[in-house]
Amino acid sequence: MATTSDLYILLTRGYNSDYQHLENQEFVGTITYGSDPTRPDKDNEYDDDDEANEAWDDTAIRYYVARVEPVSPKIRVSVIKKAIEDHFRVGCSCTHDCCGCWFGGVRKVKYLGDGHLYLITTAYQRNF
Ligand SMILES: [Zn+2]
Repeated sequence: MATTSDLYILLTRGYNSDYQHLENQEFVGTITYGSDPTRPDKDNEYDDDDEANEAWDDTAIRYYVARVEPVSPKIRVSVIKKAIEDHFRVGCSCTHDCCGCWFGGVRKVKYLGDGHLYLITTAYQRNF
């Protein structure tokens, strides 16, 4: 199943990624990509007995082919790439180590052409 989300680029970068929604943002279009059941859920507390969590002991790499519909054809590929990085960024604002929260985001974004297609590589880890 595919997920479609609004895509924003951050105009300010004053906050920790946990508070990214508070930044000034500009809408650049929509992004559609295959859903990944293993993508980290920020609200999912770490549980040592949970086998699904154990699978995340190492860095989890995922690949997505995404289709972006820019709000205007004038929006540059470089801007969309930055917006994709902002979209996938996950972090926490805990003040202690080993909180178990997910952190990470885009490792690489490659523009595949035709004005719409991007190959996205993401990497996430638990904070242990
Ligand atoms: Zn945390």
